Amino acid sequence: MRFSTRAIHAGDELDNPTGTVVVPIYQVSTFNQAQPATGAGYVYSRTGNPTRTALEKCLASLEEAEHALAFASGMAAITTLLLSLLKEGDSILAVDDLYGGTRRLFTRIMRNFGVESTYVDGTNLRDFEAKLTPGTKIVWVESPTNPLLKIVDIAGVAKIAHSHNALLVVDNTFMSPYLQHPLRLGADIVVHSTTKYLGGHSDLIGGAVVLSDPKLYEKVQFAQNAAGAVPGPMDCWLVLRGIKTLAVRLERHCSNAQKVAEFLAAHMKVSKVVYPGLTSHPQHDLARKQMDGFGGMVSFHLKGGTDACQKLLKHVKVFTPAESLGGVESLIEHPSSMTHASVPKEERDRIGLTDSLIRVSVGLEDAEDLITDLSTALEDV
Ligand SMILES: *Cc1c(COP(=O)(O)O)cnc(C)c1O
Repeated sequence: MRFSTRAIHAGDELDNPTGTVVVPIYQVSTFNQAQPATGAGYVYSRTGNPTRTALEKCLASLEEAEHALAFASGMAAITTLLLSLLKEGDSILAVDDLYGGTRRLFTRIMRNFGVESTYVDGTNLRDFEAKLTPGTKIVWVESPTNPLLKIVDIAGVAKIAHSHNALLVVDNTFMSPYLQHPLRLGADIVVHSTTKYLGGHSDLIGGAVVLSDPKLYEKVQFAQNAAGAVPGPMDCWLVLRGIKTLAVRLERHCSNAQKVAEFLAAHMKVSKVVYPGLTSHPQHDLARKQMDGFGGMVSFHLKGGTDACQKLLKHVKVFTPAESLGGVESLIEHPSSMTHASVPKEERDRIGLTDSLIRVSVGLEDAEDLITDLSTALEDV
């Protein structure tokens, strides 16, 4: 079956004696062991819960994978994945323009366990090749990157990682499984913050690890139960509900973002717009090849620097100044003082994440209203 059909039905084949059309919220901690035949194998909800199983089946189906594991947050998914795959002395090679929280986990926590991380320019395949060492067990990629929206050649990096016996992990949060299929391109593991496009309504925190290799799955599943950073049944249900409209939402996110990006590109007070859907994006052709759409995230630089950025955030009325992304409502933020404040300033400057940068998550409001809002707010910056 095709994507939109799977988004609505995958996982709903639970053995459901009352015939509910939607998978119910199994708000329970433990299961009767006296009748294992009727218990469908459930024991305790940290280990497994029927609502979570439905979500995990659905996520696996959307990423065209054998397995998915749901977690209490994107960071819980990433932490559990690292705990299950790495040991002291191993290292991670990651793109330099990484989600701030992931970078903080790599540099401030994993390092304490003897796991080092090295960073590469995600647009330069030779840089990956040069920095891989025998200790590199995981190559970690986001594409588009956050917040500079660089496109990483996933198939190219997969080949390099595999020739060095490293696993390729792709954080597919910015694209969602509707717009990008990292496993098809050769990645071994996909992670998601389901908080973003999969949930889609800014009303939950969740994460997932998706993969096909049975041995890796066994390891991550063991760690999911052992470490216990699992989502509650209600949150699983909210993600499942969000996923049902993923395809229609993403279509609109993409078309609205394209319009907003084109408006900004023509604006006097904007020095540069970064959106993979603009032909001015240096990797527009790769984006076209690798993605089924250009996504809902747009970044741009204001000529007026930090001051102008702060004013813009104050003057907008439809956009909400807030961290996060992927919800139905449009959000606007200033990465250097908000989402990426934990990245040291020298490093931010080095990769081009300057104080004049604004990132927007374009929502599903009327595109004309979004453009009018930005246009009005920009008058006073
Ligand atoms: C938000 C996000 C995360 C972390 O997810 P949480 O659900 O906030 O823990 C990881 N990666 C990317 C790309 C994100 O946007």
